[in-house]
Amino acid sequence: MIIEDPYKSLNPPIYPSAVYLFDSIEELIDFVSSKEKRRFEYGRYGNPTNSYLELIIAQLEKAESAYVVSSGMSACTIPLLTFLDSGDHVILTSDMYLKTRNFIEKTLSKFNIQSTVVFPSNEEILGAIRPNTKIVFSELPTNPFYYVIDLKPLSEELKKRNILLFIDSTLASPINCRPLEYGADLVIHSLTKYFSGQNDCIAGAIAGSKQLIEKIREFNGAIGAILPAELSYKIFRSTKTMALRMDYHNKTTLEIADFLSKHPKIKRVYYPLHPSHPHYEIAKKYLKGGGCLLTIELDGNLESLKRFCNSCKIFKIGPSFASYESLLDPPYIMSHWDVPDEERKKMNIFEYTLRISIGLENKEDLMQDLDQALKKI
Ligand code: PLP
Repeated sequence: MIIEDPYKSLNPPIYPSAVYLFDSIEELIDFVSSKEKRRFEYGRYGNPTNSYLELIIAQLEKAESAYVVSSGMSACTIPLLTFLDSGDHVILTSDMYLKTRNFIEKTLSKFNIQSTVVFPSNEEILGAIRPNTKIVFSELPTNPFYYVIDLKPLSEELKKRNILLFIDSTLASPINCRPLEYGADLVIHSLTKYFSGQNDCIAGAIAGSKQLIEKIREFNGAIGAILPAELSYKIFRSTKTMALRMDYHNKTTLEIADFLSKHPKIKRVYYPLHPSHPHYEIAKKYLKGGGCLLTIELDGNLESLKRFCNSCKIFKIGPSFASYESLLDPPYIMSHWDVPDEERKKMNIFEYTLRISIGLENKEDLMQDLDQALKKI
């Protein structure tokens, strides 16, 4: 729903109101009896600024509809809670954002929802299907090793079995991939990342068919994980430059991945569009660019990681990605510190693993910074 602006403003206004008024009781009766809501009533059910951003996201994803929520995590959890019932089964991939994995494995199991974790490949996903499988949840590409599932044939198989396919495409952004075009049922984003690009707000979005999105919107009406209009405007503002930023991220990160892959102090580089990546051929099919993230294994140990990270001058140590600033995220410490050693090894996370977010700074400066820090290990 888009409000026609009487002042012809180029940018959408920010509507901070929690309450939207009715002129008469007749108008209120009309509103509550109509199935399709054509106006606003109360801020927890939506507001005009959010609707504007939702329209933009739907257009970018070529979706019938989109819905913005309070965080990327709510964009992952609310659709799962909307469509799963007690007794259902979910398939998820071993490489994915740990908080989402924990939610599916640990929280949903409290509601008698079972799950199976598999390597991100069609063979493994299809092999894990049970009669009660309701949803397959994967990232594209996955985090932090950037595997890419073969979306089209997978979605075709899942449709035959009435299983929903949810794709968290935060690492791709709609500039690099549009999963709905390949048959995914929902695409999920942490808007905190590429859409915002500024590391100054937390937000999420879900896009898909009108029917699925309306169910999610209704469910969240009772959960209340809404995005304030002020933040919607901030995201809208940054979304205008997303394609330009992605272009720089894609080109610079590929070059840096190549530079690092030849460096003697580095054992291995993971970047989806680098020929050394095990999923390079599938990645080329689905990704227009590889994005700003790459993961390296230093030839060393925790000491080497400390020396390298502490020696970087431009790169800062911090979580998240896709902002102006280049960031270093050692997953062994940052996100997987409490994961038992055996589990962590199975996830391929070691003391010397480092995820790097390449920012928008000068490419040569970034390479020099990495090079001088690698000399210190
Ligand atoms: N999905 C992915 C792939 C992520 O990397 C993240 C956060 O890093 C999230 C979801 C959660 O997003 P947010 O931090 O906006 O809640």
